Amino acid sequence: MAATVREILHYLNEIAPPDWAFPNDPIGLQIGDPAQQVERVLVALDPDPRTVANARYRQCQLLITHHPLIYRSISHVRFDDPVGMAIQALCEAKIALIAVHTNWDVAPGGVNDALAEAIGLQEVRPFGKGPARQEYKLVVFTPKEHTNAVIDAMAEAGAGIIGLYRRCAFYAEGIGTYEPMEGANPYLGQVGKREYASEYRIEMLVPSERLEAVIQAMLRVHPYEEVAYDVYPLHTRAEHKLGRVGALPKPMLASELRDYLAERLGNPHVRLYGKPNKLIRTVAVVGGAGSEYLADAQRALADALLTGEVRHHHSWEAWIRDVVLFEGGHAETEMPGVLRLADRLREFLAPRNVEVFTQGGVS
Ligand SMILES: [Zn+2]
Repeated sequence: MAATVREILHYLNEIAPPDWAFPNDPIGLQIGDPAQQVERVLVALDPDPRTVANARYRQCQLLITHHPLIYRSISHVRFDDPVGMAIQALCEAKIALIAVHTNWDVAPGGVNDALAEAIGLQEVRPFGKGPARQEYKLVVFTPKEHTNAVIDAMAEAGAGIIGLYRRCAFYAEGIGTYEPMEGANPYLGQVGKREYASEYRIEMLVPSERLEAVIQAMLRVHPYEEVAYDVYPLHTRAEHKLGRVGALPKPMLASELRDYLAERLGNPHVRLYGKPNKLIRTVAVVGGAGSEYLADAQRALADALLTGEVRHHHSWEAWIRDVVLFEGGHAETEMPGVLRLADRLREFLAPRNVEVFTQGGVS
């Protein structure tokens, strides 16, 4: 038993849809053959030489990393250059490489949810800017008696979510007319006769990553031989917020929180910028390099922002905005999410007897 690279990529695209990634983030299959059989997978933070060597040592056919190997277009692949070296090693060992980056930062259960959980935040909600995604309106015409079944099927497949409301739909009654031609097997009417059918026009909102699944689910329950439906791209674009904000299990001084974070993240070098005596109740988190979310954290009424890397000018902005900034380490703030990704893959791949290994990162 095994799985193909394509099947694993398909699964990753479901839990971290590609259009949730930030613009120009080169996620997805970066190297390799989609048809390759996979029996062993290594999940890691970076496609660095140590990780590639580990993937070879464990005889993996697939390496999945949070950070992409090829970030910008490259014009040369030289084996004396770190990126070229990794490309060479992966190709020689026939190891495919998939990157799951900002799409996994944003995803429910991804990097920032895992980080919020790792430091014990409660009542966690999203905050801050994030990539916009395309949404569609799916309109379908059904006989009256099938209206609820069609709405149910589309809602099950991910249509009709507006804020905290699910199964949102609109329907209105009207008349559909058609003439079945020779060879047709109409649900209503006869071949050669003009038919006027009482129908409902159902409208539901669908995010782009669910569009295909929603159409398929709708077609499965719809009684017509030929289903009339329309897909309209919308100008309004939903935004996935990148960060998470939540409450600490108990309020603590910023200086105490620094020690608490050091212990939770396994990084004794967590740095604090801002007022060490400020009482912290609400903490915003952005794994990796996220100190530019300071203003968003302030707007979200967070007392502190934990991120992996702090740009110098944010270190003094933290004082002015009165949001304590914690620098927890790039790797340390993203590894909880990488381990979570490996757990999800294990659940998916265990029935196929595919082994999933993990490797830690270096700050
Ligand atoms: Zn990162």
